[in-house]
Amino acid sequence: MPKILVRAKQVITMNAKREIVEDGAVAIEDNQIVAVDKFDKLCVSMPDAEIHGEPNAVITPGMINGHQHLTGDRLFKSMIPDTIDSQDAIFNWAVPIHAAHTERDDYLSALLALNEALCNGITTTVEAGTVAHPDSVHAAQVEIGTRGTLGSWGWDTEGAPYAGSISEVLDRQREVLRIAPPGGLIEGWVTLVGHDLMSDELVCAASELARNNSTHLTFHISPSTNDTASYLARTGKHPVRHLYDLGALGPHVLLAHAVHLNEDEIDCVVSANAAVAVCPWAYLRLAQGITAGGRHDEMLRRGVRIALGCDSENSGDAVDPIRNAALFAGLMRDKSMDPFSYSAVDALAQHTIEAARAIGMDDKIGSLEVGKQADLVVFQTSGPEWITRSSNPVLQLIWSSNGASVADVFVAGKQVVRGRKCITVDIAAAAEEAQKRAQILGQTIRP
Ligand SMILES: [Zn+2]
Repeated sequence: MPKILVRAKQVITMNAKREIVEDGAVAIEDNQIVAVDKFDKLCVSMPDAEIHGEPNAVITPGMINGHQHLTGDRLFKSMIPDTIDSQDAIFNWAVPIHAAHTERDDYLSALLALNEALCNGITTTVEAGTVAHPDSVHAAQVEIGTRGTLGSWGWDTEGAPYAGSISEVLDRQREVLRIAPPGGLIEGWVTLVGHDLMSDELVCAASELARNNSTHLTFHISPSTNDTASYLARTGKHPVRHLYDLGALGPHVLLAHAVHLNEDEIDCVVSANAAVAVCPWAYLRLAQGITAGGRHDEMLRRGVRIALGCDSENSGDAVDPIRNAALFAGLMRDKSMDPFSYSAVDALAQHTIEAARAIGMDDKIGSLEVGKQADLVVFQTSGPEWITRSSNPVLQLIWSSNGASVADVFVAGKQVVRGRKCITVDIAAAAEEAQKRAQILGQTIRP
């Protein structure tokens, strides 16, 4: 691949000092960042480089989405009413629609979800653990050129779609690790649906499988108070305490949500050094009570690794890290009633370098530094939200902007979005096909 310089008015590095390079550029060779410096200086040292970006742009590291459903919801985006409860939404809408999906539907869903993600600046997507046809999703991930993780639907809940015995569920997980081995752009993770929809035997075996393969385990826990009630009835313990006592938690575990935890459960997360993916829009969309019961601010203070996530297209709906970061920053600041408690830079970190720590990839992504993978986003600043132009690009990016400001996106040194359009696959054709499938799925399974 040719040498590339991507230039901007400000390069937001998200390195340890949170440095911003004015009139800067990121130099790329093959898939790696080889320099981050003044544009003029890099032009001298790399005279043959291809030039991308523009003098007024803002560059950030590629965004990391810690929890995203790649299948199911995409084909009925924003269709589940917001006048029903979350159990109704999940079990009478989302699960039946997932169950009706064909392999082709999974491919189309993943392609279109990743298209929205990439066009909004997300270069790494952690799949949330509800994929029925991992081969199809993997094909979409590879074709579109994203970085991310792949999982497979995992629960041993009798009579439910895609349920299986513990050994069947584990075999499916092993198959994902074979399809997407560690070290590639797409890495296989062990994924369970979670909640109280996994036996103790399954979660322990899944955790062990992830440990033995040096990969990660993710599953849903306590977005609402339902899991607490269910675990107390079944085990006599709160969910995270129960999972901790089983030995299922550890640094390799990414808990999705962890909204309604008590003090003891937070102790368990800290003690196990587990990470958490937080999807603030989902809790608001589904009325799950983050403002009433969420304690992610305490977890952050205690050093828990936290990534922000966008969840699914009927719980938050938009796959937009900037919108997400702004909301989370607002929630953290408002809860503390302390303007010094949490800033726009902190929120941006939760989708970049801190998210990379949460998913165990901070050695290669999350910041713009020499030696890291060349995953980066160019925001164009010609839109009305950038007038007048602030001298602090992070404030303006988080509080004033959104994913619509994204112009160009690079993953591992390869351009995948140009002028806010995906350039690796024919999105128009996929969109047309998906719209037809959405109508068929909607007619057959709408409750
Ligand atoms: Zn989820």
